[in-house]
Amino acid sequence: MEYKQLSGRDFPRFSGVKTFFRMPYVAVDADYDVGIVGVPYDGGVSYRPGARFGPSKIREMSSLGRGYHWSRDVNILERLKVADIGDSPTVPVSQEKTYQKMGNFFNNLMSLNKRFIAIGGDHSTTLPLLRAVHKKYGKVRLIHFDAHLDTYPAAWGCEYHHGTFVRHAVDEGLIVPDKSFQVGIRGPLANKDDLDFVNKHKLNVTTVDDVRNGLNDFLNKMPDFGDEPTYISFDIDCLDPSYAPGTGTPVPGGLTTYEVQRILRALKVKNLVGADIVEVSPPYDSSDITSLAAMDTLFELLCIMSDSKINFTKG
Ligand code: MN
Ligand code: MN
Repeated sequence: MEYKQLSGRDFPRFSGVKTFFRMPYVAVDADYDVGIVGVPYDGGVSYRPGARFGPSKIREMSSLGRGYHWSRDVNILERLKVADIGDSPTVPVSQEKTYQKMGNFFNNLMSLNKRFIAIGGDHSTTLPLLRAVHKKYGKVRLIHFDAHLDTYPAAWGCEYHHGTFVRHAVDEGLIVPDKSFQVGIRGPLANKDDLDFVNKHKLNVTTVDDVRNGLNDFLNKMPDFGDEPTYISFDIDCLDPSYAPGTGTPVPGGLTTYEVQRILRALKVKNLVGADIVEVSPPYDSSDITSLAAMDTLFELLCIMSDSKINFTKG
């Protein structure tokens, strides 16, 4: 079948059935390259809920998605067969059952040799995604955009919540910690010993100060991930609350949408095996700007995936 975007010049952008990037909605086993998939689950949230509504709102804001990237000079929707493959099964009242159902869904997707960009959902949903990716590719390099380290301890007796996926990913051997890269991190922390885990495992943490003290210098010094299997997890709260108010745990003093665009465009990644965008909570948003930023990030991630296309057959 043809993987073409519903044209805004034939069908006005407020019309039509809402799919990610106005791309066709197809079955999981269809012949696309990259599946965009919703993960509507927010049972791992510690503060503001609502990320379960992220996928449907980002589909709605996808009305404004366009395929040609000006500064890259590439039409990603011509280079890649992109599809909306619907939502992963989730269970709103059970983290455990959600992880099981997500595991089945994404293991199947990996066995079909597909690449995906998952649209959350809260950040607890990244762990089962990394487990599925690890089954196919082994340990991956993680690029993690976030205000938070997400290496935090259990809370209320629960090991798994939206602030723990990096700790579990390291402990389960899913990622290479000293080759991973965190962007947009900032305080405050509960205690200084919140830094013990990242120091012990030599995670490459960069803060908003590192970006703001000289953007071009920061971009030039970013690691080169080359052909290594790489995964990008994008927590929308890496952005300042003025750009992304609709999120679970906002932290002042964050990145601008422009800085994030520049960082995503400068990443040296040739084998992006999977990605996610999480923590968009539409009920706390203003004028849908958070979902709009998520849609724009989805576009940049698709561009990085299209750069990786040469490696798709190696999977
Ligand atoms: Mn996070
Ligand atoms: Mn966060």
